[in-house]
Amino acid sequence: MPNNFSDNEGRERFELAVDGTIAFVTYRKSPGEITLVHTEVPPELGGRGIGSKLGRATLDAVRAQGRKLRVECDFVRNFMTKNTAYNDLLAEGAGAHAEPAAHYKAGCFCGAVEVEVMGKPVFAGYCHCADCQAWSAAPINAFSLWKSSDVRVAKGEAELATFHKTENSYRKFCKRCGGHVMTEHPRMRLIDVYANLLKGYTHKPTLHANYASKMVSVRDGLPKYVDLPADLGGSGETLPD
Ligand SMILES: [Zn+2]
Ligand SMILES: [Zn+2]
Repeated sequence: MPNNFSDNEGRERFELAVDGTIAFVTYRKSPGEITLVHTEVPPELGGRGIGSKLGRATLDAVRAQGRKLRVECDFVRNFMTKNTAYNDLLAEGAGAHAEPAAHYKAGCFCGAVEVEVMGKPVFAGYCHCADCQAWSAAPINAFSLWKSSDVRVAKGEAELATFHKTENSYRKFCKRCGGHVMTEHPRMRLIDVYANLLKGYTHKPTLHANYASKMVSVRDGLPKYVDLPADLGGSGETLPD
């Protein structure tokens, strides 16, 4: 395994450090098993084969740890179809016939637009930024971030409009009722489907983002980031509750 590769158990991810930037694969571990959830290669590391190096080192680490493998990450899944020598790592039933993933639907205010998400969010939390406050007309946005490939418009695509103030966030809403549905973050290849719209879904927040611009305090003991965690391009600095 390359010496710039490590298993950061505190952050639940494998990391490959290149020129001071970190590419990583997030995971969940359970006794004897590991589920690879999401791969992130920062754009500045693009076009250098870093993704393949990270994929190889990650799967070598899974083998060295003697864990059975489950894969939710499309990147790793694609990597494994080209590198079939790792297929023996897969847990029973984790291959082509994996158990069906959970599906949740979120609708706009009038119901004309419906989106469907599949599986589990990459992560979830609350955002206190001024843009979320202005867009949602609320002090806090409860976000759940899903891989773009796990989100689809199930109904009313023609009614769905998009507004973007910055290149980071494409905000989508229903033209009929004005109800907000989701925000696409193309840079992160993730989509925030507003957690409170998802029927049957339990919001499991792990952090508060952009707490420096909070309008209300939330004393729930979760980490309060000034802007964003470092692995999402923020300063990583935190504030008290
Ligand atoms: Zn609507
Ligand atoms: Zn925000």
